[in-house]
Formats: sequence, structure tokens, C-alpha cells
Amino acid sequence: MAQYLKTSKSLSERQQANKEVSIIVENILADIEQRGDQAVRELSIKFDNYDRQDYRLSQHEINACVKQLTRQNIKDIEFAQEQVFNFATQQRACLLDLEVETRPGVILGHKNIPINAVGCYVPGGKYPLLASAHMSIITANVAGCSRIISCAPPFNGQPAPAIVAAQAMAGATEIYALGGIQAIGAMALGTQTLQPVDMLVGPGNAFVAEAKRQLFGRVGIDLFAGPTETLVIADETVDAEMCATDLLGQAEHGVTTPAILLTNSLQLARETLREVERLLTQLPTADIARQSWRDYGEVIVCDSYEEMLQEADRIASEHVQVMTDRDDWFLANMTNYGALFLGPRTNVAYGDKVIGTNHTLPTQKAARYTGGLWVGKFMKTCTWQKVVSDEASTEIGSYCSRLCQLEGFSGHAEQANIRVRRYGNQEVPY
Ligand code: NAD
Repeated sequence: MAQYLKTSKSLSERQQANKEVSIIVENILADIEQRGDQAVRELSIKFDNYDRQDYRLSQHEINACVKQLTRQNIKDIEFAQEQVFNFATQQRACLLDLEVETRPGVILGHKNIPINAVGCYVPGGKYPLLASAHMSIITANVAGCSRIISCAPPFNGQPAPAIVAAQAMAGATEIYALGGIQAIGAMALGTQTLQPVDMLVGPGNAFVAEAKRQLFGRVGIDLFAGPTETLVIADETVDAEMCATDLLGQAEHGVTTPAILLTNSLQLARETLREVERLLTQLPTADIARQSWRDYGEVIVCDSYEEMLQEADRIASEHVQVMTDRDDWFLANMTNYGALFLGPRTNVAYGDKVIGTNHTLPTQKAARYTGGLWVGKFMKTCTWQKVVSDEASTEIGSYCSRLCQLEGFSGHAEQANIRVRRYGNQEVPY
């Protein structure tokens, strides 16, 4: 049976924290809906110490941000954006429209239609997370969305130059220096100066993720993509330094980052616990990572690979790094994960920053029912139908009429009856 060598904060404590966030978000969204720009401005001053009349950046401001980056910075961003573009383009090619004759004279189909206006949130409270700009904006562009607006919080009281450059290079049509609930609320509900969008995408902290969740229905959302999580699945083919590095590499995201080691080796588990402590004395972001590891880190030792697989599916983590002698077996058999990183030669940071797969991924067990952001999330798969012969209309109409009567829908039945009379010259046989 799986044995915990290190446990994390209890589920009830986490649920209590979620409830508190939920109430804050509800009140702020109601305020934005009622007072629009004035509320957004006050919230931006309160939470980000940033005040201006108009949060949309001008072309002049965008150019000034780009100029602050070095040539190497620009080349690196271009490289990352190219990888995201290439993979998204291949994925787009898999999204085929369909037209099929299911019975003689009955033609059914579906069409993939890009969502018109999308709002791409780029997080930037603790770190200027420019990679999220590529993930959302490039992918929306590949899908063919026509209005792609993007919000990111100011960083140290200014628009973050690297984020703004990445937003512009990715092709955002409007860029706003706005963060948190006020950004999400403004994009979804609209204000006097900001036209609302049809769908919100992108990751963020607990406030951002909860705001998107509460607005679902008013607008579409991509998925529940809150504070990051990581799971390392390892056996004795890998060493403790690698495991500890991969755990802390994600724990630095924030103080509520679950980072879990799942192993079938008690020795590796013990060594990793020691190695985490050693690395925490060296990591420049150790303040965050230490607290996060203390409260949300877990080490679980299993008896077998099968048990590791069961535990991994139960945890349903956003990121899963697999470093075992049977990585492909995990790929073939795991069912609940945001993204898999297979083998020691790749890792979560490659996926987060540059390799080309999307880094906006499901958290808090949302991986049980969704994958991450991809070009398909920016498309609506809409069905259509056509009946092209009198015989087909009469046949389907007869079935339809009887089924409508069974449900008590006389008006629906009449829609069928009129067609059976006109195209079949008969009454519906009962
Ligand atoms: P953020 O941009 O998500 O949030 C910053 C904003 O939060 C600020 O602009 C502020 O307005 C608001 N805020 C802060 N404290 C508040 C409070 N008490 N009440 C109301 N609003 C408040 O940036 P962040 O905080 O650095 O978080 C980024 C998050 O994104 C991290 O948790 C990271 O793990 C997560 N992330 C998730 C994924 C994913 O795919 N799931 C990917 C990348 C990053």
C-alpha cells in the first residue's frame, strides 16, 4: 500500500482557502459589472499600485517595451513562439471538417469555426510569465480568431517589458496593463472602454482561475488553470538530485504549489528528501519554494509500478514528469494528467517555456475531464444537416413525428408531418 514519507496541508484547509477566494472574487466581479472602468481603476490601484486613465497600451508604449529587451531576448522569444506555432499548426491540421451521408439522402456534417473575440490572460504577479503570451495568443492566431486581446498585470508598477514584447510579437490586437480579477472581469463583462470578449483563456493565480470559473456561461473559458502543480514519478533509474531539482523547479511558482514525488524506491524517497533540503540552501527563489515544499510537498512510496500508476491517476496532476525504466508504459496507461514529460532528458520547464506544447494546463484535478489549452479550444465544432431527397425527408419525418408524439410535443410533430405530406404525399403511418 502507498506510504506517505511526507504529507501536505489537509484537503479541508485547502477547501477553506478556496471558499475565501471565491467570496472575494464574487464581490469584485459584481463591482466591475456595476461600475465598469471606475471599479477597474480602483482595483488596479489597490492590488497592483498602478493608476492610469486608460489601461490599453499605445503602439508607442509597446515599442518602448520591445526596445528594453536585448537582441538575444528577442531571438529567444522568437524561437519559443516558433515552436508553439509549429506544434499548434500541426494540431490545427488534425481538426478536420466532416461531411457524411449517414443514410441515402441524409447528409450530416460539422465545421470547425474559430471563436471571434478572445481574451488572453498572461500572469505576472510574482514573475513576468511571458511564456503564457505565446501559449494563448499564438494558438488563438493559428485557430483564426479575429480579435485577440491580452491583459497582464503591471510588474513593479510598470507594464512588464518582456511580457508586452511577447504579447505584441505573438500578434495580440489590443494589449492592456491590467491584472487579476479586474482584468478577467473587464474582458468578460466589458467596461465603458473595453469591448467584452467571447472567451477567456490563460493561466493565473487562485483569484484569476476562480474569476474565470465564476464567469463561465457569460463567456467561454478554456479550462480551470490555477496555481501550478507537479508530480514526479521516479524509480531507481534516476537520482535524487534530478528528482529534487524537478520538484523545487515548480515549487518556486508560489507558496501553494503541490510538488509530489511518487516512487517505488524507499531509498530514492529518503535521498530526495535530503537533496531538497540541500538545494533549498542554494536556490535564489528558496523563500517561496521552501514554504511551498513545507506546506504542499509530498513524498509517496508505492509497492509497484501498477500502484504508482493508480496513485498518479488519483492525483491527476497538471504536470507529470516520468523518469523510470518504463516511461512508455506510463504514456500508454495513464489517464489523468495535464501534460506528460517522458524521460530524464526533458522536463516541465522545457514544456513551460519553449518546447512547443502548451503550458496552460488543468489544475485541482481538472485533468480528470480536460486536457490543456490547444488550438481546438479556440474553435467551435458546429454541426449541420441537409436532407436532399423526398424519400429521405419522408422516412426521417415519419420516425420523427412518432417520437415527438411520444414526448407530447405536438408542435414538433407538426414540423415533421407537414414534410411527410408535402414530400411523401402521405400521412405519417402510426
Ligand atoms: P497573476 O497574474 O495570476 O495574479 C496577479 C494578480 O492577482 C495581481 O494583478 C492582483 O490584481 C491579483 N491579486 C493579488 N492578490 C490579491 C488579493 N488578495 N485579492 C484580489 N486580487 C489579488 O500572477 P501570480 O500571482 O504571479 O500567479 C501566477 C499563477 O499562474 C501562479 O500560481 C502559477 O502557478 C500559475 N500558472 C498556472 C499555469 C497553468 O497552466 N495552470 C501556467 C502558468 C502559471
